[in-house]
Amino acid sequence: MDLGISGKRALVCASSKGLGKGCAMALAEAGVHLVMNARGAEVLEATAQEIRDAYGVEVVTVVADVTTAEGQAALLEAATDVDILVNNAGGPPPGKWQDWDRDDFIRALDANMLAPIALMTALMPGMMARGWGRVVNITSQSVRAPIAVLGLSGAARTGLTGYVAGTSRQVAGSGVTINNLLPGLHDTDRAASLDNSVVKAQGISIDEARAQRVAAIPAGRYGTIEEFGAACAFLCSKHAGYIVGQNLLLDGGSVNVTM
Ligand code: NAP
Repeated sequence: MDLGISGKRALVCASSKGLGKGCAMALAEAGVHLVMNARGAEVLEATAQEIRDAYGVEVVTVVADVTTAEGQAALLEAATDVDILVNNAGGPPPGKWQDWDRDDFIRALDANMLAPIALMTALMPGMMARGWGRVVNITSQSVRAPIAVLGLSGAARTGLTGYVAGTSRQVAGSGVTINNLLPGLHDTDRAASLDNSVVKAQGISIDEARAQRVAAIPAGRYGTIEEFGAACAFLCSKHAGYIVGQNLLLDGGSVNVTM
């Protein structure tokens, strides 16, 4: 399918690895020029070159922490007038509700709620003025069904979800859509680090921890970043203009709900 976005420009935050990289690759495959970002320069540059070589699109890199005001300013300088914004950042650490204090919540809110809102606020007026734009926020299945140890993540991302629900309806008339992708378990470094938390908590091997987590997924496996990226690229495509304010679970069936 021709996604109809060849030649457009996208800012893909937190994209040197994992789900962000999957989104960057799928957009590049559709002919979209990229601004890519991460805190670590080495992996970011390597991923950017991999994408330039594979798809022949222009890729600008910005080494910055997207959760900070300075990082956002650096991104916005490089990504003026982008047509597509993919919001992403690392997820908060797992833990227990008794241990979380105000600073933990502020860090989670900065990373997983306020950073995407700041970038939407800065970039959507230009999209609206040009009459076309796409925003995809990477959130989590924890927005639909709680994951107790990821309470910081759930709290911040649910706040973002509430913001998107109202805001998406305000910008849709100008040709701009905002939607959220809700990953379940995908095969990335983040998933490996959560596997290791299970190893520590239960005193089991990494293979046992992974088998235990896979057993709870009807699809019987972790998702891939390529599958995730393809869904992102579709939401950014010309075909997705009537999809507004939705929360798409990509979880292999893990969240056991009818709708
Ligand atoms: P990942 O494999 O660890 O990759 C994270 C990427 O984001 C890396 O490129 C990392 O590069 C970059 N990054 C992290 N923090 C950043 C920051 N503050 N500023 C800029 N770049 C940053 O993680 P992932 O699995 O793709 O997860 C992406 C998001 O989806 C996370 O919020 C995660 O909680 C959520 N999620 C993931 C899963 C899953 O199964 N994978 C499930 C549900 C939700 P640097 O470290 O160099 O900055």
